[in-house]
Amino acid sequence: MSGGVPEHVLVVGAGLGGVRTVEGLRSAGYEGRISLVGAEEHLPYDRPPLSKQYLAGEWDRSKLDLTDDEKAAELGVRTHLGRRAVAWRPGEIELSDSSTLHADAIVLAPGVTSRTLPGQPDSAHVLRTVEESDALREAIAGAGSMLLVGAGFVGAEVASTAHDAGVDVTVLEVAPTPMARVLGEDVGALTARLISESGVSLRCGVSIASLDAAGAVLDDGSRLDADVLVVGIGGQLDLGWLDGTGLDLSGGIPCDARGRVEGLDGVWALGDAAAWTDPLHGDRVRHEHWTSATTQATVVARDIAGAEPPPATVPYFWSDQFGLKIQLLGRPDVADEVLPLHGDGVDGGPVKGTVVGYLRDGALVAVVGFGAARRIMRYRKPLLDGLSRDAVLEFRDSLG
Ligand SMILES: Cc1cc2nc3c(=O)[nH]c(=O)nc-3n(C[C@H](O)[C@H](O)[C@H](O)COP(=O)(O)OP(=O)(O)OC[C@H]3O[C@@H](n4cnc5c(N)ncnc54)[C@H](O)[C@@H]3O)c2cc1C
Repeated sequence: MSGGVPEHVLVVGAGLGGVRTVEGLRSAGYEGRISLVGAEEHLPYDRPPLSKQYLAGEWDRSKLDLTDDEKAAELGVRTHLGRRAVAWRPGEIELSDSSTLHADAIVLAPGVTSRTLPGQPDSAHVLRTVEESDALREAIAGAGSMLLVGAGFVGAEVASTAHDAGVDVTVLEVAPTPMARVLGEDVGALTARLISESGVSLRCGVSIASLDAAGAVLDDGSRLDADVLVVGIGGQLDLGWLDGTGLDLSGGIPCDARGRVEGLDGVWALGDAAAWTDPLHGDRVRHEHWTSATTQATVVARDIAGAEPPPATVPYFWSDQFGLKIQLLGRPDVADEVLPLHGDGVDGGPVKGTVVGYLRDGALVAVVGFGAARRIMRYRKPLLDGLSRDAVLEFRDSLG
């Protein structure tokens, strides 16, 4: 690439981040060759509906598509689908069919795979791909009961969809509240209420001794059986094929604030697998958020094409469960204090309409809202500005 615009950009990972990178390159005026490699047989498709509308049978398959053959042709991208990248060497990627692709810019967007539990039976469902959503939908259709391990966002969405389909759902969570790691226990307690108040049985703080095809045995020796077993305990990195980079990949592919991979010239990474430097907080962080993959793809595409970077933004995540939308802006993981802003959910009132802020050293770093879509989006600028506690409260009052 020798400092200029590359002749050939190779994108590894034909998911959300991969396709948005291709689109971003063309919108930034890039006219060179683009190749897209994907382990799945499909053109890029969207994952959020896999636990929501698609799982519920409300959307058909075509609504998931992020692109189609015609659009791919218009974008002038050469696709290599059903082929996995198995090794990285400077300027080249080896694929599972033993072919090698050379490029002067490589973008890594391989996402994550489903984390599993030791001894997890093959019959247990996980949810990452469209095939897994198909299999789970079929299982839900014939089921009376479901045992779901993990009350993270995706687990809770599956519980919600199965509950709406009339399935008797029990959720087991090892942490004291759902989403405790992301939201903290005070706010996690709101998600616990959301789940329990809807009629799903939620058991937090449980340890699982073993899983089998019929269900689970807990550490106290009790047994829980169900027609369908789902393990929804989040994603895990699958980056062994990047060993040749010599990088520490344990926390994700380490990148600067433009997605350039640490110490590797002409290589970028983005999406669920990438840990970017956060200019607001100075650390590296990996988000498994739809919007992060999208915004990072734009940053990377524009960097490769030599175009101006897009304006700064704050991380955003949403989840649809039990009839309301949970929305998270910013970084609750760096907070040292919680500040209720709207609604009474934290004091035992209705969960719906509750908005909670997170502060670090007295400055706003995150905001989460439960069924409060209009209000939550107003907090983007206060977050970017890192408003002080008093200024946040003044801003809150101005919203009425
Ligand atoms: C069920 C579900 C529901 C979700 N709901 C929400 C939501 O409500 N809100 C939200 O913000 N986010 C949600 N997400 C997360 C969101 O979908 C991800 O953050 C987003 O897809 C990340 O994009 P990505 O490009 O990094 O990875 P992906 O979209 O996962 O794409 C990565 C692709 O790379 C391929 N790949 C992996 N390794 C290789 C290799 N070595 N060679 C070639 N190809 C490879 C994979 O097979 C995959 O197709 C959800 C995710 C799931 C699974």
